[in-house]
Amino acid sequence: MTWPPDYHLHTPLCRHAEGWPVELAVRARSLGLREIGFSDHAPMPDAGFDDWRMGPEELDRYVAEVQRARTEFPELTIRLGLEVDYLPGLEDWIRELAARHPWDYLIGSVHYLDREWAIDNPAQKERWSDRDVADIWRAYAERVRQAADTGLFHILGHLDLCKKFGHRPEGDVREWFRPAMETAARHGTAIELNTAGLRKECREIYPSRDLLVLARECGVAITFGSDAHKPDEVGADFPAALALAREVGYAQSLRFEAGRAVPVPLPSR
Ligand code: ZN
Ligand code: FE
Ligand code: FE
Ligand code: ZN
Repeated sequence: MTWPPDYHLHTPLCRHAEGWPVELAVRARSLGLREIGFSDHAPMPDAGFDDWRMGPEELDRYVAEVQRARTEFPELTIRLGLEVDYLPGLEDWIRELAARHPWDYLIGSVHYLDREWAIDNPAQKERWSDRDVADIWRAYAERVRQAADTGLFHILGHLDLCKKFGHRPEGDVREWFRPAMETAARHGTAIELNTAGLRKECREIYPSRDLLVLARECGVAITFGSDAHKPDEVGADFPAALALAREVGYAQSLRFEAGRAVPVPLPSR
């Protein structure tokens, strides 16, 4: 079995993950993965924005740590990316980040609905109780559409992160996310099957099967990511993610090199 690449890996530079790239590479090799990619939480222009990402001055160290893993594990293909937060107004900063290094890909993620609230932050979970769940979901889907519409990202991260804590709205979620998926398709932006959701209260891959069906109907391509924050999460639940992708009719996923997408067939069973 040739596993698809795991393109969503974190490092200790983000202050809430364990395991340097070389340690994650050891794990990937032992699982038989041939390709992985790092996408640690990118800096914000304001170093004090929050406490769960690398600072702007740490980008060079990040690149160097990934380079060290490449040198030590020549048998692995190791990509270098970033998980970049999208908020309206950050576009110039994101362009600046994109120009800092020839990244293989940028994952655009919505965590913040506004500058004060990251909807997936366990420390801010109580904020959910002040607001209507459907309103939050609709706002999240609209923000993802805006992220896709920047055209700055190769991959959209954890499409329905708003389900993380198990908050489920009434209503047809697919209609809320359809504009985002149509926009992604227009820009050639992929989405990821992110298995971290299986490790959270929602107990489900991001995105849900319904949203993955929608993505496929819209012609949006996929990648795979464990969102590993420690070595033993590398490649986590890839069999389940592959099964889901096949069930909704995907036959291929994307690899990225220097921002260029290369479709590859999903492994045969
Ligand atoms: Zn993280
Ligand atoms: Fe994220
Ligand atoms: Fe992540
Ligand atoms: Zn993530």
